[in-house]
Amino acid sequence: MKPSEEERLDTSAYRIRVGAFDCLIVKDGSTGPSPLSVMMADPPAGLAGTPITLLAGLMAVDTPEGRVLIDGGNGTHRGERTHVAEEGLAAEEIEPESVDAILITHGDFDHIGGLVREDGVVAYPNARYTLHRELWNFWHDAEAQAEYPEEAQALWRKILPPLIQSIEQRGTLFDDECEVSPSIRAIPALGHRHGHTLYRFESEGAKLLHIGDAAVHPLFLEYPDRLNIRHDTDREMARDSRRMLAARAAAEGAMVVGTHFELPGVGRLTPIGEDRYTWAPVHS
Ligand SMILES: [Zn+2]
Repeated sequence: MKPSEEERLDTSAYRIRVGAFDCLIVKDGSTGPSPLSVMMADPPAGLAGTPITLLAGLMAVDTPEGRVLIDGGNGTHRGERTHVAEEGLAAEEIEPESVDAILITHGDFDHIGGLVREDGVVAYPNARYTLHRELWNFWHDAEAQAEYPEEAQALWRKILPPLIQSIEQRGTLFDDECEVSPSIRAIPALGHRHGHTLYRFESEGAKLLHIGDAAVHPLFLEYPDRLNIRHDTDREMARDSRRMLAARAAAEGAMVVGTHFELPGVGRLTPIGEDRYTWAPVHS
């Protein structure tokens, strides 16, 4: 039996309100399950074999000032996906032309691939872009890019020229924490990648922190000192960023969204020791 639209969307998207903001977490493919030790350099004893599944994705937020996307997902440039962000957005009648702003967490392909279509045209023709200056500089630094795998470089060669051209016309760069539009703050959390940034939403007393890849799985918040993503650009800085964001989210009572967390993809942190937190999904 063909699942109904609602049932299909149930497996790929989750909607949650944050005050006046209407957030839609959309999933876009998955990797794994694979043992924790494949992705983490120093897994705690007993956890190395824990199977981990990572989902890619993006988040759409309808605000009183317009429609915002956090990142763009994988796009159509590589492979089959179990969840397809473009379909998830279309099912919710989110047309590409209706997106007013794109907030970029970092430049890995699963976050920016979907910002450019297969034909080389930007996917969201009316959107403004917001990103950290360090990422912008990285995109103009061939030497730094050459340190990444050839697959990543090939994909960047394909999508960065049209993306950079659009950002030159409609982009805003920031260096430090700042308000990027009413009630939305950019919070640099460096280490995972050049210019990696969190985005914090606050409305009517409710708060939500989108942490991008600062923690790709909730276990990173439970063991912030022990766990490192093998390919973090700067592991120590990434660890400090994780500590910072977890302490801040817990102190503020903010909901936390991780790009790669399994659905619903949004939850709350509870302290369980010094610099250690468990993440439990929110169900509304
Ligand atoms: Zn990612």
